[in-house]
Amino acid sequence: MVTGGSRGIGRAVCIKLAEMGFSVLINYHTNRQEADITLQLVQEKGGQGEILKFDVSSQDEIEQALGQWKMTHDGDYIQVLVNNAGIRHDALVMWMKNEEWHDVINTNLNSFLYVTRFLLKEMLLKKMGRIINVVSLSGLKGLPGQANYSAAKAGVIGATKALAQEIAKKNVTVNAVAPGFIKTDMTKDLDEHQLKALIPMGRFGKPEEVAAIVGFLASSEASYITGAVINVNGGLYT
Ligand code: NAP
Repeated sequence: MVTGGSRGIGRAVCIKLAEMGFSVLINYHTNRQEADITLQLVQEKGGQGEILKFDVSSQDEIEQALGQWKMTHDGDYIQVLVNNAGIRHDALVMWMKNEEWHDVINTNLNSFLYVTRFLLKEMLLKKMGRIINVVSLSGLKGLPGQANYSAAKAGVIGATKALAQEIAKKNVTVNAVAPGFIKTDMTKDLDEHQLKALIPMGRFGKPEEVAAIVGFLASSEASYITGAVINVNGGLYT
């Protein structure tokens, strides 16, 4: 399952996992049309997929949607969870509204607990699972104007490392991927020309370049990697 699979990095991850032979559950929040396009792209790769709508910041919606999915898919279980859905609401701390803080924390951090906890039990029972959290350079370095987003992503990085140790013996790995600047809807309001001058590779990354490492972490080849945070940022180190 890929949260926020309708667009951007999530869509590229859905396609990558489909290419690897996984049946993909594509989560979205509001953009059904884009989720349909992701499903079509998954099917064009010869893969199978389903669309599942829920708001990752709402425990009720998650439990209802995933509970329903379980009831209609007896015997199936979600082996790979990619916690990818995320939002930005940038503001300087001085001017940040409570709502901007809480929305970003709920969607980027609290969602980790709600979705992961729901799916974890079965991974542990089956002694096989992969949890991959899409975090950010912002959570490692801190970026001005993003205290809410940096805090949320840093929180997920801490949770990744803690959970990895809790469940390592059960053959369930937990890792994080930290992109720098990737060309998606999330970054379309940024001044790419100015920012790319800071990036050693001199360009924004592509969603497929993030999806490649997510695919590797989901594979059996990554069986001894857990608690890691992997940068995908064109050399823009912290
Ligand atoms: P994007 O193009 O804006 O897409 C965001 C995705 O998240 C969409 O599929 C959206 O669904 C979904 N989403 C947002 N709020 C949601 C909610 N409450 N419940 C369920 N789904 C929700 O973003 P992106 O650039 O691909 O980012 C994906 C992840 O990478 C995020 O966690 C982001 O923080 C992280 N990241 C991105 C960059 C970058 O430069 N792009 C850098 C570092 C980290 P709808 O289509 O339904 O709205």
